[in-house]
Amino acid sequence: MKTIYADNAATTKMSKTALEAMMPYFTEIYGNPSSLHTPGQEAAEALWQAREDIAACIGAEAREITFTSGGSEADNQAIISAARSGARKNKKHIISTAVEHHAVLHTLRRLEKEGFAVTLLDVQPDGSVTPEQVKAAIRPDTCLVTVMFANNEIGTVNPIREIGAVCREAKVLFHTDAVQAVGHLPINVGEMNIDMLSASAHKFHGPKGTGFLYAKRGVVLTNVIDGGAQERGKRAGTENIPAIMGMAAALKEACANMEENTAKMIAVRDRLIAGLSEIPKSVLNGSRDHRLPGNVNFCFEGIEGESILLLLDDKGVCASSGSACTSGSLDPSHVLLAIGRPHEIAHGSLRLSVDESVTLEDADYIINAVKQTVEYLRNMSPVWRDLISGKKEFTIKD
Ligand SMILES: *Cc1c(COP(=O)(O)O)cnc(C)c1O
Repeated sequence: MKTIYADNAATTKMSKTALEAMMPYFTEIYGNPSSLHTPGQEAAEALWQAREDIAACIGAEAREITFTSGGSEADNQAIISAARSGARKNKKHIISTAVEHHAVLHTLRRLEKEGFAVTLLDVQPDGSVTPEQVKAAIRPDTCLVTVMFANNEIGTVNPIREIGAVCREAKVLFHTDAVQAVGHLPINVGEMNIDMLSASAHKFHGPKGTGFLYAKRGVVLTNVIDGGAQERGKRAGTENIPAIMGMAAALKEACANMEENTAKMIAVRDRLIAGLSEIPKSVLNGSRDHRLPGNVNFCFEGIEGESILLLLDDKGVCASSGSACTSGSLDPSHVLLAIGRPHEIAHGSLRLSVDESVTLEDADYIINAVKQTVEYLRNMSPVWRDLISGKKEFTIKD
């Protein structure tokens, strides 16, 4: 049986180019870039080239890129940096949204315990926040606005340029968790008024455990890891050179092929959305128009999320409900609750996230598999029986 991997929002397969770019840095060019000898300096040069290549992909300068262990660390460092700078000026208010990744939400929760005030904006029914909402929430003591570029569960893409403009006008730092967007959507930090941006290599066919934080020149970073003077003293620890080389190669490749890949993914995404919409009492989560090219997310009434996933896995379809971080817990997704789905519906959610290798034939196979699975589960669901007999009312209207 063939396997169709449709969980690219959780992680992606490493590209061949990225893997090949990494290999020499394990065995040939293995010096420590902080060493003064030739092998060390060769590594340092490679590191700088990677920094330049990555910066070029988002319209930044090399010195504005700090390498981290991934998206979570970049989010932590961005938010903590802005908080520490704010606190020095007695500005201890932060604005974010209810649908952020936990790397953002839990960092904010920690700062709240330290005495920061946090405003979490409610989202529109499509999962987005508007620049007007951000503008209305800014106070004289606001030190940071952090709004994700694109949501990892429902794929909604925010109006980042406009939100950035509001922040710039109010002279408030603007950070965006762009982990789902980098390598998938065109990004220019200058044109989009972004002061800080987080990215993670394993979401764009690079290796796991590496990422970067872009911080505009002049933005003061605070260490979350103390030690040596690597990364201009802002992130200690010997650089993971092989992974960084893989990340740079993966991002260059993703950016070079973005148009072509996006077109392929949108065709597959739209086929999936059309096919799954035919299922009775189903609803698409997230925006129809402002959506990541590879993201599909549905709720099906009368179904438990986890059981769909296991049955789909048996049919060779790898999908997810909510995010990888929350599956395993029985709580429904905070994102689905935030867009107004009731608990029982939020439990019956399915996220399919495709990359450019998933074909239209694969999409047809997935549609069939999901239709069969939903029907099978509903046939044995007491909740479904109550719904169709009229004992309970449907939440999803067709
Ligand atoms: C995956 C993800 C992260 C975490 O990145 P890691 O590199 O896995 O730490 C943060 N934010 C979003 C939106 C993500 O999708």
